[in-house]
This record gives sequence, C-alpha cells and structure tokens, in this order.
Amino acid sequence: IATNNEEFETPGDKLIGGLLTADFDERSCVSRYHQSLLYRKPSPYKPSEYLVSKLRSYEKLHKRCGPGTDSYREATKNLGHGGEKSVGECRYIVWVAVYGLGNRILTLASVFLYALLTERVVLVDQSKDISDLFCEPFPGTSWLLPLDFPLTKQIDGYNMGYSRCYGTMLNNHAISANSTPPHLYLHILHDSRDEDKMFFCAKDQAMIDKVPWLIVKANVYFVPSLWFNPALQAELTKMFPQKEASFHLLGRYLFHPTNQVWGIVTNYYNAHLARADERLGLQIRIFSDQPGYLQHVMDQVLSCTQREKLLPQVATKEGPKANVSETPKLKAVLVTSLYPEYSDRLKKMFSERPSSTGEIIEVYQPSGERYQQTDKKLHDQKALAEMYLLSLTDKIVTSARSTFGYVAHSLGGLKPWLLYQPKDATAPDPPCVRSTSMEPCHLTPPSHGCDAEWGTDSGKVVPFVRHFFCALGVKMKL
Ligand code: GDP
Repeated sequence: IATNNEEFETPGDKLIGGLLTADFDERSCVSRYHQSLLYRKPSPYKPSEYLVSKLRSYEKLHKRCGPGTDSYREATKNLGHGGEKSVGECRYIVWVAVYGLGNRILTLASVFLYALLTERVVLVDQSKDISDLFCEPFPGTSWLLPLDFPLTKQIDGYNMGYSRCYGTMLNNHAISANSTPPHLYLHILHDSRDEDKMFFCAKDQAMIDKVPWLIVKANVYFVPSLWFNPALQAELTKMFPQKEASFHLLGRYLFHPTNQVWGIVTNYYNAHLARADERLGLQIRIFSDQPGYLQHVMDQVLSCTQREKLLPQVATKEGPKANVSETPKLKAVLVTSLYPEYSDRLKKMFSERPSSTGEIIEVYQPSGERYQQTDKKLHDQKALAEMYLLSLTDKIVTSARSTFGYVAHSLGGLKPWLLYQPKDATAPDPPCVRSTSMEPCHLTPPSHGCDAEWGTDSGKVVPFVRHFFCALGVKMKL
C-alpha cells in the first residue's frame, strides 16, 4: 500500500509533489495535470515543502486581492488621480508583455517569484494574446489585469524617460523616505541603467515595499538579481534548495498551455516522437543581419551533434557496413527554427545513406515561419507548442542567447548543449559547450552595485550566480 509520500514519488504524480493545486477542473486545461502524467518522465527536481507552502498562501492572497474583489476596487479607486489616499491592504505588480514569447515567459516567471517573495499580487497585461497561450494558474480567481485598469492607456508609453520610472526618480532625487508614490514603473530591460538595477538592492526594496502598484517592463530573466539581494537569499534557499531548478519549478507551476496549444503539442508528439527510442531536440535560432539558411550554422550544428555523439555520422559508400542490430534504434530529431532548410538538409542526409551506427534517424520540424510575428495568435501558439515539444525531448541542443531555447531546456529539466553564437560568418570552434546548469541565463551581467562594491564583477561576489545562471548567454565549464 502506497503511503502519501510514496505516491509523490511515483511517475503518475499529477500534482508534481504538491507543486500544483488540485483545485482546478481538469478539462478546462488538460495540460495542467496531463503533461506530467502522460508525456514527461518524473522530474528529479522536487519542490521543497517550503515552496509548496508559499504557493498555497500565494493562491489565497491572489484570491483575496485579485480582480473583482473589494480589495482590488479599493486599490484602483484613486490610482491615476494623483492622490495618495488609502489603497487598502493589497499590493500589486503588473507584468507588461514586451518582446518575444521566450522573453515574456522568463520575465513573467521572474515577476512571479518577486511577487512570492514580497507578498504582492501579480497581474498580467492581457492586451496581447496571453490568454490564448496559457491557462489561469491560480484557482478561483484571475491573473489577467482587468481591461479597465486606470493606467491601461498610459502603460504603452512607459519607458526610461517616464517621471515615475524608478531609475529616473533616483537620478532626479525625486524619492524620499517620507512620501510613497502610488505607483512606480520598473525598467528591467537589456538597456537598464545602473539606477534601474538599484531596484534589486535591499535598501531600495525597503522603500519600494510600500508602493502599492509596481508596473514592470522586462526582457531579462532577473531571478539571478534576486539571489544577489542578501535580504532575500535565505528565503530563496529555503524555496529552492536546488538553485538550478528555480525556473524549472516556477515554469511548471505557472505555465500551462491552453487546450488549443496542448492539442498542437500532443498531436505532433503522438504522430512523430512517441515511437522513438530516443528524442533529440535541436533549436536553431539565427541572430544575424542576414537571417535564413546559413551554411556555417548547418556546419556548426553537424559538428556539434557529431562531436558530442548526439547524432551519428552517415556511412561512407566504401566503408564497412554498419553493425546493424536486428531491431535498430529509432532516434527522432525535433528541429525548431524559423527556417525549414535546416531540417530539410538533415532529413536528406539521413535518408540517402544509413547512419554509421545503424540507428534510424528521423527528422521533424513542426513549422518554418520564416520571420518572427509576435502577437499573431497562431504564430505565438506554434512557438509555445514548439518550446513544449522541445522540453519533452531527452537531450537538447539550443542556441546561445535565445530565450526560446532557455525556456525549452529549463522546463524539460535538461542541461543543454549550447551552440556558440557564430562570428564573422564562420562556424565557431568548438561549435558548442555543455551547459553547467539547466537554468536560463540572465543575458546581461546583473549589476551588484548596491553598496561599496559598486562595479565589482558580480560573478565573484556570489559565485553560484555565475555557475548556475551565467551572464552573457553562455554557461562556461568552470
Ligand atoms: P529569442 O529572441 O530567441 O530570445 O526568443 P523569443 O521567443 O523571445 O523571440 C523569438 C520569437 O521568434 C519567438 O517567440 C517566435 O515568435 C519566433 N521564433 C523564433 N524561433 C522559432 C522557432 O524555432 N519556432 C517558432 N515557431 N517560432 C520561432
């Protein structure tokens, strides 16, 4: 007889060790409970009891303060009218959808973690297609920012120059301990100034904590910046004893594809990937002035996958016949890219000659959209479906600096092989590196300039940040 504890360990643990609440209707969002049951191997990364308890209390808080509640009405009543009147007991953080889907997923997870740590309620901008992509994550309430939110019309124009932007206020000495603004705009993008990054400092947080509304535009995964804050480190360690599983767990808690997207994922998986003995994911993202099919990228992909023994060579015409076993292994390769040519070449290569190991290699690519069309519903749904499909593979090769790839490997609990970004139109040598962790990268070096050590190398101050989260897109072997 299985005890409760043992049940948590079984592959069929649909609540992922208590990470998910059981309070949802299954049919309205099939992916929520089904992905872990039917499509994923059990993750070795279990949520800590502390994380589980934080999530359950967050769900209560969201229900108490979320849209439609008296608290929400009170908090929004005077917002935008300049007054500093009473705003009630709830504090909020609004996530604004900017940049591509990978960026959005990483920043939303970061904002949610900040909300968990600071007991704020996270509300998401629904002006884009977020509700066509994800189910509601919190039971009995909604995470969508109501369309009649008083600042809705202004939010689009918020940027570094805005007078309520935190960094700008610091620059203008417009912040004082005895007057709390009713809202602040946080600019956490690749071009953030040092003053914007001061948001993460313990001293600044003490003041920011009192501000009822925070509105965030972000395109970097800023969880590493939270780890830098000494006041938050103890709490974070209790929530994530395995630091490198931070996004993995947050992502599995928050992001449940809608039934429409899940339909794309499961149909594709069942048709092409389910039968294989092993699945390899290949994410090819081109950051180049002339995007498209690039021969040096194709060379790089082949050289990486063959060096790392992820794909076999093809047999030479004269060479000895491969030692083919009676039932050759079937390896399915899932390629995702905006360009279909990469998988076409691979397919051709493995269909013309047998592989040197005798393995059967089947190559699939679900779409080839050619160019990024963020905010077009079907395009974004395909992108999300492909991130999920990649996360269901056994081994994964992703492109350095691509948030699309970060989401895929982190959700999957996979340490990727990262393809270095090519320079001068040549295949880098070595072509790729095995990542030290499955966490997404921060993309820009997080500043750690809160006190005296301003300007010091952040990786030296808190070494694990470099190890698990890395900066500049590539996790180096240490
Ligand atoms: P990043 O730019 O690589 O960091 O990733 P983002 O997801 O933020 O932005 C890239 C966007 O381009 C995606 O969201 C998709 O809209 C599109 N895109 C890029 N690569 C792919 C791909 O392999 N498949 C699909 N379907 N879309 C892609």
